[in-house]
Parts: sequence; C-alpha cells; structure tokens
Amino acid sequence: MRDVKEFVAGFQRFQSGAIGPDSALFDELRQGQNPRAILIGCSDSRVDPAILTDCVPGDLFVVRNVANLVPPCEVDAGYHGVSAALEYAVCHLNVSHVIVLGHSQCGGIKALMDGGCSCDEHSFIGRWVNIAEKAKESVLQRLHDKAPALQQRACEQASILLSLENLMTFPWLRQRVEAGSLALHGWYFDLRAGTLSGYTPATGGFDLLT
Ligand SMILES: [Zn+2]
Repeated sequence: MRDVKEFVAGFQRFQSGAIGPDSALFDELRQGQNPRAILIGCSDSRVDPAILTDCVPGDLFVVRNVANLVPPCEVDAGYHGVSAALEYAVCHLNVSHVIVLGHSQCGGIKALMDGGCSCDEHSFIGRWVNIAEKAKESVLQRLHDKAPALQQRACEQASILLSLENLMTFPWLRQRVEAGSLALHGWYFDLRAGTLSGYTPATGGFDLLT
C-alpha cells in the first residue's frame, strides 16, 4: 500500500513531466476543457477510468460513485451530484458520448444483493445502491436457482442497463440522443479476465470490445 507521501512524490513526477514548461497539452488545457465523453464509473480503487482507458487530462469528464449508478431525473430539494455533473457535461461541454462503466466484483452491487449495508440502520450505502433495486429483482427472478456469484455478475450488468434507462429520463439528454448528437454506452470491465465488454442492444448481451 502506498504511503500518503508517495502520492505527493507521484504528483511531483506528474508536475515535472506533464505540466512542465514544454507541455503543449497543458498549454491547451489552461485555456479550458473540451472532453469527448462523460463517464460514470465506480469509486472502487481498482477501476480508475482514466487509467483503464489510457486517457490524458482533458479526455474524460468523470463521475465516480458506489456501483457506478445513475439515478433517475428527480427535481426536488435533494442534492443530486450525478445529475449536476451530467447536466454540465451534456448541456455545457456538449460531450458526444455518455459511458456507464461497471465492473466485476463490485462491492456496491454486492451490498445491493446482500440487502443493503449491515453497518448500521443510518447507512448511506443501502439507500444509494437501492437505485438498482429493479435490476436486482429482475436478476433474482430470472436466475433464482443460480449461484450467488453468477447472480451478482448478472446484477452488475443489469444495473448498467438500468442506469442507461435512467439517463433517458433527463429531458435534455434524451433530446440529444434522439437527435443523434449524443450516444450512450454500457461497458463492463471484468477484473478477473482483464477484459472490457460493451452492451449490444441487438443481442441484448455484453460483447468483448477488444
Ligand atoms: Zn464497484
């Protein structure tokens, strides 16, 4: 495990390499950002989207949360971090792609499958992962006689599809998808196999992207 001092040393290497006086990229980024995509990924330390996709600063607008979930559009007095990030990326940065990146062995989806978080009754985790309750219910119905590991994997993928559905409840996002200026993608990173799959609407399944 890295000591916090090593994070600072890591930044020093980044500073001298990427943002040194000769960096054309950072000269450009100092003027503003123009990312091609917004990616909703999991907070899990093993699935950093920029590292997995070999991106440089400026490429991806990223939101990370427990289990990479997109809530439905809700206009109320609550605090909606994912919705605010989506609005900024779609309406102000005019990204062309929205990617929901799920992954295997997801602790958030495990908490959902196990019935929320057992830490205490006021846990934030249980309420948050319940966004994907519908995905869990459909998996348990379809795969009721299968092993928990298989059910969890199915739920990891079904919750990606539910997030894609929830994305379409944002009117300004739906409008752009229907006009063809915005594309939605559901991706799944398999940690064990080291592979990346994408949801194919035609087959209804996840197919290897590489
Ligand atoms: Zn996760």
